[in-house]
Amino acid sequence: MENLKTIGRAEPLDIEHLKPPVDPSSLRHRDLLDGPFWQRIPAYRTVDEATFLDWSWQARGSITSAAKLLAAIQDVAPKAFYDDVVAGFQQAPMALRVSPYILALIDWANPYEDPLRRQFIPVASKLLPDHPKLTLDSLHEQADAPVPGLTHRYPDKALFLTLDTCPVYCRFCTRCYAVGLDTENVEKVSLKATEDRWELAFRYIAQRPELEDIVISGGDSYQLKARQITLIGERLLAMDNIRRIRFATKGPAVMPMKLISDLEWLDALTAIVEKGRRLHKEVVLHTHFNHPNEITAITKRALDNVFERGIITRNQSVLIRGVNDTVDSMQLLIKRLGHCQVHPYYVYLHDMVKGVEDLRTTVQTACDLERHVRGVTAGFHTPTFVCDAPGGGGKRVVHSFEHYDRETGVAVYTAPSVKPGYFLYFDPVDTLSPEIQARWRDPADQARMIEAAVGAARSAQTSNHKASSI
Ligand code: SF4
Repeated sequence: MENLKTIGRAEPLDIEHLKPPVDPSSLRHRDLLDGPFWQRIPAYRTVDEATFLDWSWQARGSITSAAKLLAAIQDVAPKAFYDDVVAGFQQAPMALRVSPYILALIDWANPYEDPLRRQFIPVASKLLPDHPKLTLDSLHEQADAPVPGLTHRYPDKALFLTLDTCPVYCRFCTRCYAVGLDTENVEKVSLKATEDRWELAFRYIAQRPELEDIVISGGDSYQLKARQITLIGERLLAMDNIRRIRFATKGPAVMPMKLISDLEWLDALTAIVEKGRRLHKEVVLHTHFNHPNEITAITKRALDNVFERGIITRNQSVLIRGVNDTVDSMQLLIKRLGHCQVHPYYVYLHDMVKGVEDLRTTVQTACDLERHVRGVTAGFHTPTFVCDAPGGGGKRVVHSFEHYDRETGVAVYTAPSVKPGYFLYFDPVDTLSPEIQARWRDPADQARMIEAAVGAARSAQTSNHKASSI
């Protein structure tokens, strides 16, 4: 009672703290970059805030070639770096597109180490040979597609690839088989935003009563016109079987100003979310932030707009070497997302994607990070670390492997409710010992290492089965 009486008095309460005062640096997730940071880039020195916040200026001014990159950054990066970029593009499976927003956040004094540069701009000197077991569409999205651009893998969920363009192109894109323009190395599968193609997808979804959950992706939902958001949203909401829709976009991470200055797009999304709510169906936004530096005061303003409209936002990150593979960067990312009312939902082990071996980490790295992240914040803001199993096994919790040989770097997963068989993920060869690296150069030895891992997984399953009543 005494404590209750004292509440409301002007003098401070004498509280005995059980915890020591926190280090102020532990609250740095709230310190967001603000002010005209873009004016550090020579080409944007005279660009005012209104222009920088205009999403159509951002889209028109996106960097799509090495020459445009040089014109924008001029002499802020060393000439040798620029030559390295030119050579990097010649080998890259993804076309180049970087927004002025991202370009302005890169530390050009240290471009080799910068976590944003690493995601979007290749440099030849850092590229590594692909893993010998890598395939172009490693998740078998096309093999699991009954109609072009609709992957039906899980019983009640489908992935609807509505278009093949994005506001930026990520070096590590799993969908490099389709997304963006052809490159010197990859001729893309066409997934254009045509209503004829969409019609086939709508018909298939309507004919499958087990489908309840549709992910609208691409490419990127940011690129859909407002009327296309409305069309897709209304067609799906009208189907009795559909209970959940997710619009997936990297946009808020790379061009957040669209949520400030393209209210037509946000209004269309809001209308679908509200219509869904009236029908007792969930429509949410899924974002793709990978590093805390992507989140600035502009991002917060954009996400505040989304939150004020009652739109739930979840984030899916990719675990990338040199970007977010440290405890510090991952914890800061998760706390900063939470600060912006975005739920950190998944962290994906980097898919086995062509041309980006330098960006993949090991399964062990993901397991270690997961251990350090859990407990930092509330459970509903704690991402699940998953391996999207190559071959179409779907997302498996990263440490749920049947067997993981840390020496050869072979992890074996099963997905009993998705597909029969074993699904293999391979650690990057350069992270293994020199002896094992030599074995990966020999096809016969590759087969032996895989056979041994699958055999060990089979034995582990047999003994677990004996010990379990399931
Ligand atoms: S935004 Fe998504 S779909 Fe587009 S390039 Fe990046 S990872 Fe691929």
